[in-house]
Amino acid sequence: MPNNSPSPADADPMVSAVRKKLNQRLVQVLRATQLALLLTAINTVLIGKIIDTAVLLGTAALLFSVDWAVYKKFHNLGSTILLITLTLMLSYLAWIGSGIRDTSILGYCGILIFAAMLSNKRLLLVVMLLMLSMCALIIYGNISGLHVNTIEPTNIFTGTIVMIILSVIGFSVWLMAHDYRTALDDLVHENSLVHESHLKIEHMAMHDQLTELPNRNMAHIAFTSAYAQAQENGQPLAVIFIDLDNLKPINDSLGHEIGDHILKEVSKRLNAIALKQHIVCRYGGDEFIMILQDIHTSDDASAIAMIILHSISLPFAVKNIEMNCTCSIGIAMAPRDGNDLDTLIKKADIAMYQSKDSGRNSFRFFDVASNHKMFEHLNLTTSMRKALAEKQFVLYYQPKINLHDHSLVGFEALIRWQHPQYGFISPETFISLAESSGVIIQLGEWVINEACRQGKKWLDKGLNNFSIAVNVSSIQFKRGTIDNVIMNALERSGFPPHMLELELTESLLIDDTERLATTLSNLRSMGLHFSIDDFGTGYSNLGYLKKFEVESLKIDQSFVRRMEQNPEDAVIVKAIIQLSNSLGLDTIAEGVETESTADILRGLGCNMAQGYLWSRPLPALETERFWRDWCLLEQT
Ligand code: C2E
Ligand code: CA
Ligand code: CA
Repeated sequence: MPNNSPSPADADPMVSAVRKKLNQRLVQVLRATQLALLLTAINTVLIGKIIDTAVLLGTAALLFSVDWAVYKKFHNLGSTILLITLTLMLSYLAWIGSGIRDTSILGYCGILIFAAMLSNKRLLLVVMLLMLSMCALIIYGNISGLHVNTIEPTNIFTGTIVMIILSVIGFSVWLMAHDYRTALDDLVHENSLVHESHLKIEHMAMHDQLTELPNRNMAHIAFTSAYAQAQENGQPLAVIFIDLDNLKPINDSLGHEIGDHILKEVSKRLNAIALKQHIVCRYGGDEFIMILQDIHTSDDASAIAMIILHSISLPFAVKNIEMNCTCSIGIAMAPRDGNDLDTLIKKADIAMYQSKDSGRNSFRFFDVASNHKMFEHLNLTTSMRKALAEKQFVLYYQPKINLHDHSLVGFEALIRWQHPQYGFISPETFISLAESSGVIIQLGEWVINEACRQGKKWLDKGLNNFSIAVNVSSIQFKRGTIDNVIMNALERSGFPPHMLELELTESLLIDDTERLATTLSNLRSMGLHFSIDDFGTGYSNLGYLKKFEVESLKIDQSFVRRMEQNPEDAVIVKAIIQLSNSLGLDTIAEGVETESTADILRGLGCNMAQGYLWSRPLPALETERFWRDWCLLEQT
């Protein structure tokens, strides 16, 4: 995906903080060295060593060039001047003094410490080699008789020089130890922040925020172990689907606050009815499910359903207003009606509709004979196949914007169904039907082909630097050969693979099979990019992000749209951005509708966004017009 933001190292506040610290250390070491040189020069002048004094003062003066390098932000050049000049000066003093037993050799240790602290490995190596060569030269001079050094007797002046050198070394070691400890503390702190935000996301992904009850994701996990246990004990398992009958009119007339109160109260009542081994979840708006484990017959489920009906029908008192609310219940039994939660819920839902039809405030078991919902389903599925043949589907494109430099980085392709009789049908309605009926395989193939064809057309028209993101369903991975489909689409259209991005769902990646891993790695080796759609609403397992080399996380629009009103959503958004940044991934916020949301996201470190603020999803021609206008605006 093209990313037009400045180089990550420049933009990263951590990197610039480290650079600033290193420069500060360089100046501190420089001052300490200049002071030491001055004090030593006073010493040498007192004992009449005029050459030594001149060398020391000359070096101190030369080191002012390091100040210039720091001012110009040439940190490496500054460190190089400091280290090489000092090494040469000390070597010279040793050469004219007592050879390798000269006190100035002690200063080599200090230089090595400076090098470790301020510079890179290469410079450290150069300095060390220079020192070894100097020592070798002095040793050779002495052994061969070419230049023999004599050892001076120790006096108060040479003693003082040793103490000055030791003090400078001590000072730099102290600085280094301090930096090291601070860096370790920062690391521990950073780690615990990442861990905390992960736990927070994990909890939120498994629980409903309003009622604190487990949500759908958690229900799936809990069901798997409950069902295994029931099978082992030879017992049935019941799934009770509870739908409140009149929450909508309460919400509409008295406001959402009262509605929320009732939902919380209903959760409390359901929790009070449930035994330890039962699982209560909030399934959606005013829908709850209860999974009953450790029951003997369907009569046990009926008994619980009756208790629920009674309990919910008791009046609710909110802000001194007394209200009545009833519910309708549908029940499906495992293994009779199915052995996976989705099937059981679907059937319990159908049974619930039957009890609603028969006058509400009642319960029904799933009954195959009057399963009319299934027919509706079949109808739409058949017309979807026809729609594909008759080209009733179109792709719309929504621009993705780089929040830092305001450039347009690409588009998300979103499908639309223009039905000749029913008019516009939202993908929210037909995608899940296409998935459950398998039509998604052909539909998804069409989407990929169409997106590649359009992408290549734009390239041919001279538009460039963009990516197209396509939504793919987990069914396409499980039942199709999506890698072949994509390869063919790319070949046929000539659209480059690195410009194509796949938006994957967390539920897909959690299904960690060999086949999925092979398919994803095939796609990755072709050059495709991956992002995780609706991050934060699913399982949020960090392991797969690394394993499948995902590039970006998309924050679900539901969080983004509410973040300014609802602090809980703001916390989730912040945690996701923090997590994404710490993993070095891009973050794309969906559903940005106002300038202020964009500002907050930018401030939190989110780098990309899409939403109605910039543009709704548009048909290809309008997208192109929007894009050209955008580029013109950028240039002015
Ligand atoms: P999604 O992938 O989360 O797509 C983002 C949805 O947010 C789109 O809805 C988009 O129109 C909407 N949106 C974008 N910005 C804003 C905003 O500022 N405010 C509001 N209120 N909404 C905004 P859309 O197009 O109705 O798509 C709904 C879902 O249908 C998508 O959610 C995606 O899961 C699915 N979908 C769409 N096209 C495809 C497709 O080609 N294949 C598959 N498998 N699924 C698709
Ligand atoms: Ca998407
Ligand atoms: Ca989304």
